[in-house]
Amino acid sequence: MADHNKVWNNCLQIITQYVTAQSFKTWFEPIVPLRLEGSVLTIQVPNKFFYEFLEGHYVDILKQSIRAEIGEEARLEYLVPRKQTPQPGSTKIAVPTNKSNSKYNKTAPDKIKNPFVIPGIQKLKIDSQLNPTYIFDNYIEGDCNRLARAAGVAVAKRPGETAFNPLMIFGNVGLGKTHLAQAIGNQVKSMFEDKTVLYVSSEKFTNQFIDALRNNAISDFAKFYQLVDVLIVDDIQFLENKVKTQDIFFSIFNHLHQSGKQLILTSDRPPKEMKGIEDRLISRFKWGLSADLQIPSLETRMAIIQQKMSSDGVDLPPDVLEFISYNVRTNVREMEGILISIIAQAALNQRNIDIDLAKEVISQFIDNISNEITVEYIQKTVAEHYDIPMEKLKEKTRKKFIVRARQVSMYLAKQLSNKSLKHIGGAFGGRDHSTVIHACKTIENMLENDSRFKSELSDIAKRLRNSGIEFNESDLG
Ligand code: ADP
Ligand code: MG
Repeated sequence: MADHNKVWNNCLQIITQYVTAQSFKTWFEPIVPLRLEGSVLTIQVPNKFFYEFLEGHYVDILKQSIRAEIGEEARLEYLVPRKQTPQPGSTKIAVPTNKSNSKYNKTAPDKIKNPFVIPGIQKLKIDSQLNPTYIFDNYIEGDCNRLARAAGVAVAKRPGETAFNPLMIFGNVGLGKTHLAQAIGNQVKSMFEDKTVLYVSSEKFTNQFIDALRNNAISDFAKFYQLVDVLIVDDIQFLENKVKTQDIFFSIFNHLHQSGKQLILTSDRPPKEMKGIEDRLISRFKWGLSADLQIPSLETRMAIIQQKMSSDGVDLPPDVLEFISYNVRTNVREMEGILISIIAQAALNQRNIDIDLAKEVISQFIDNISNEITVEYIQKTVAEHYDIPMEKLKEKTRKKFIVRARQVSMYLAKQLSNKSLKHIGGAFGGRDHSTVIHACKTIENMLENDSRFKSELSDIAKRLRNSGIEFNESDLG
């Protein structure tokens, strides 16, 4: 009879191929296999959060690996030790891992069905391959994505009928292309029951095409795609230098476009920078609208984190929220990875989520946590202190308290940010360096003569420092 350790080890061998080293270490190494009874494998996880996380994020890969080891009827049961005593046999959460559609199934092995096995190719039977969690409601809007998001909403309302066809979404990795493209698909699906939506990565598309070539089934392949009303092709940069795949894609594109069907494409670069893609395809891509995604601003990053945390039911202290948003400026995916690690570390080691923990985790991801303060961050802190919208600092208004807030921000930026006067002025609605000099003089003057103002400024400085950014009080003059 198979022994639970062996079975679990074999499962781990499979799992390790599909998850990152960091996730493997965090989520799979702490699991202890307890027993195997018939086709039920029981594993012990450190706590309930852990169990929920595994079920939320890794259910597919867990399911597939234990099925591969034990057979189709395999079941997984979790045990959570009572009150952190490592004794098994207490709170029992029995979970048949038979439910599909994990919350984030990106790490799971390929699930996309071969389109040709769908019997009779009936319209409504085509599985859209969409992840139902990618929706507009949880796609935070910001300057970074306003145009792309608005175009996406418009397309979702009237697929194939707007000028945005194709809708081309481009931007660097982790900035939300897949989420947005899928949100459009999900929205169409919920509004138009009779429309067939299909999401496919261009890699998957290529592989299906190669299979079709091998099986002499090119015409079936093309016909299948021509049935779709809304076709979403993700990461089309993968089509680069694949001449034959581009040819068939070109013909599918034309067919759909001519029949008033909607195309949504994503890419990590704008059409004009795509190399190795035929000109005729590039020119098609330019027919509709190309909208780019940028790195979200500090405020948008905060809103995104807040939204993710509240949907996971986690309370993140405000200073930690600010600290993460401030320090992680690469992309949203990295920000999510860091959040998840922080929560996991807190749960595993029974620690509070605080700045120290956040710092530790972030330093594993990012080489040097920035100790340098940005103008944007100063603006935000000052605006909060004076309880005015941050945008006001950039506007032309001459209202006294806004002028004050603006001058304070400029002064702090000059003292703390290492940025040039020109840069600082620019960050305040394109003002010039002489305005910044004037602001600094005014504030210095007030600091010398007004002790109440002095303590006001040191309150703001304290607030800046609370977010984990280090600077010398003496920098403040
Ligand atoms: P890309 O396809 O551009 O590499 P993804 O769409 O996979 O990026 O996004 C990475 C992660 O960031 C996803 O989990 C996504 O939900 C999240 N994300 C990106 N932009 C936003 C946003 N504006 N609001 C909420 N979540 C976002
Ligand atoms: Mg993507």
